[in-house]
Amino acid sequence: MVRVDTVPPISLLRPTEEIIEHLVQNNIIALCNDTFAQSYGYKNRNEILGIKAKDLVGEEGYRDRMELYVNAGYSFDQVLLQRPNREGKVVYGVYNAEPIITDDNILSGLWASFTDVSTAIQQQEEFTQLAQRYRRFVSNSFYPMARINVSPPMPVDISPAEQIEYLATHMEYAEVNSAYADWITNSAKDSSVFQGKKVLTNTLEKQIFSTLIEEFVKQHCQLAPSEWQFISADTGRPLQFNANCQGMIEGGDLVEIWASYRDTSVESQYLREIEYQARHDTLTGLPNRKKLHETLHGYIKKETPFVLMLIDLDLFKEINDNLGHHSGDLLLQKLGPRLQNLISDTSKPGIVARLGGDEFAVAICDVSSQLEAKQLASNTSAVINQAADLEGVTVHIGSSIGISMYPQDAQNVHSLMRHADTAMYRSKKERMPLAVYDKQKDQRDSRQLRLMSDLRMALENDHLELFYQPKIDIATDKIAGVEALLRWPHPNHGYIPPGEFIPAAETTNIIQSLSQFVLQQALKDCKQWQKFGNIPVAINISGSNMTHAKFIGFIDAALKENNLDGNALVLELTESALMSNPDYVLMLLEKIKKLGVSLAIDDFGTGYSSLAYLRKFPVDILKVDFTFVRNMISNPQDRIIVDSVIKLGHNLGLEIVAEGVENIETLAELSAIGCDKAQGYYFSQAMPIDKLIPWIEKHQKKTNTGTD
Ligand code: C2E
Ligand code: CA
Ligand code: CA
Repeated sequence: MVRVDTVPPISLLRPTEEIIEHLVQNNIIALCNDTFAQSYGYKNRNEILGIKAKDLVGEEGYRDRMELYVNAGYSFDQVLLQRPNREGKVVYGVYNAEPIITDDNILSGLWASFTDVSTAIQQQEEFTQLAQRYRRFVSNSFYPMARINVSPPMPVDISPAEQIEYLATHMEYAEVNSAYADWITNSAKDSSVFQGKKVLTNTLEKQIFSTLIEEFVKQHCQLAPSEWQFISADTGRPLQFNANCQGMIEGGDLVEIWASYRDTSVESQYLREIEYQARHDTLTGLPNRKKLHETLHGYIKKETPFVLMLIDLDLFKEINDNLGHHSGDLLLQKLGPRLQNLISDTSKPGIVARLGGDEFAVAICDVSSQLEAKQLASNTSAVINQAADLEGVTVHIGSSIGISMYPQDAQNVHSLMRHADTAMYRSKKERMPLAVYDKQKDQRDSRQLRLMSDLRMALENDHLELFYQPKIDIATDKIAGVEALLRWPHPNHGYIPPGEFIPAAETTNIIQSLSQFVLQQALKDCKQWQKFGNIPVAINISGSNMTHAKFIGFIDAALKENNLDGNALVLELTESALMSNPDYVLMLLEKIKKLGVSLAIDDFGTGYSSLAYLRKFPVDILKVDFTFVRNMISNPQDRIIVDSVIKLGHNLGLEIVAEGVENIETLAELSAIGCDKAQGYYFSQAMPIDKLIPWIEKHQKKTNTGTD
């Protein structure tokens, strides 16, 4: 309570403006209780009694208030006003005010009461903000949401059946967001049109709600988040969503239902797509290894017999190298449909998969005889071999097929795959179009497969070493060259002799990387001993190196890289390497000769080719195989062979090197029959570069003093 005095009083006959200004300037607090003082932030009334009212409120604020008061006819009846208190905090108050007016219309003050409603107002404001925030949240939400009135409210103690029936006719939308409107109508709709409308007017709503309501009632007026699937009855649109509903129960009645949804159809379509991609090859669209494994697992689970063929294309790399990757891709794409047709022609279930690179797999069910399996594999081989037009270039591609069968060969996918793989490996090695898994043969092969994977690792990790064995000129005892021989220190098996891993490497493309390593390392090392004069290094070359399109380029590049002339290098080739593809090899050898590189025939005498035939190759050196040399002292027949090879070779203008010279007797005999050079343990075993260099030094010193 407060009484305000106007000193001096003012006549109400004065103009309104003047009265207001007078009140602003002259109203003083005459009487008040402590509550009033405290509402302004003072301790008690003594602090404000006698001060000007405008000083309490601030002149501007007080003027506004007086204006209101005067214009309201000098009275406030429950008027809500706000004003700052002493600390500047806004205080809300409900005012009642009555003027003190004398009979002759003189206004001398007023009585006022004030109730602080700040807390209530503040709460309401917060609530409004909250409501606004909530509304913003709902309306901006990406998820469909609806608030549904149950009107009139439903007593929750009626039976479930009654509840379901009741809800079907007494639900109406209180509000929905636009996500909901879009979702339920499948078009962009204004969400306000839903307000007050009965739920279940749209077919889709009916479908959804009639199912969801049952569950909602069962769970006592709520629906825990759950997945639902529908096919929309009017559009045929498949609908997959997650729904979550909460009923609001007040005084035993269900008054409202809050429902929120999450459309998961896009999500699950996306998931399906990812699933698909994880199981298919992007280039050909065929199932991949993962899908193949799953499918085979499925067959095994149902105990369906099947044949599994692993297919590796021959010379696919050559197509890629010579016609370009695009053509390679095109070829791979053409094979898928051909293989699929092959399966369809059998009218049996099956699968075609691409395992990566140029490897495919075909599995066909209900094949239990090996005869039938072989027939299918040979059909497969024929289908692959059909001409393929690669943008104007027609190619015929060959393949190697390995076959394993369920249940005969193994009872799990892993073993079946491995068996088919070893069989395929054998088919490649034996140059047969197909091979059926054979336990005895393939156990050996599977050891080799492991060896090859170890070799590949050794190559990648730089674990292979090159040793060098000197060749000596018999007449002068000078070093005539060295031969590079591979050494593989295996972590588990110790040094593996090249005779064990090279033939296996030759059946795979590892031999290419292997020879490239030897070529580069040998020339790099050779550069180091060039200070002792030209001591050429000989490297051993496999037949498949010769047919490799880029091989000559590699030689040329390695020579240039090490700044060496062609005469620093000798290539040792076996007869079989020459004979594998004579016309092509001849052409390559002529190119190699142009680089200044010498060519030697290795292991001469072990093959079948005649010397006369060899004449057409631009060969410089013949290496007599050590199996003849080693025993030539004790075995006259071997001695005759060595002797005749030397004579015939000399007739053809070739230099003769005898390998496997183990003792001085053999050396003397070779010297006697006119052999040019010798190599063998008598001089030295093969040794690493850091032993070879001192060896050369020592040998040169010896021969120099010897001849001087
Ligand atoms: P090869 O080219 O005929 O090499 C000669 C082999 O005879 C070497 O065996 C060598 O150590 C061995 N040898 C040398 N002197 C004597 C001797 O006085 N007595 C006896 N009993 N043996 C002697 P190694 O190093 O085990 O090589 C075996 C074969 O492996 C080589 O036969 C060659 O065909 C192949 N090879 C070695 N290194 C490579 C390579 O880098 N690339 C290729 N493609 N093949 C290689
Ligand atoms: Ca050799
Ligand atoms: Ca040899």
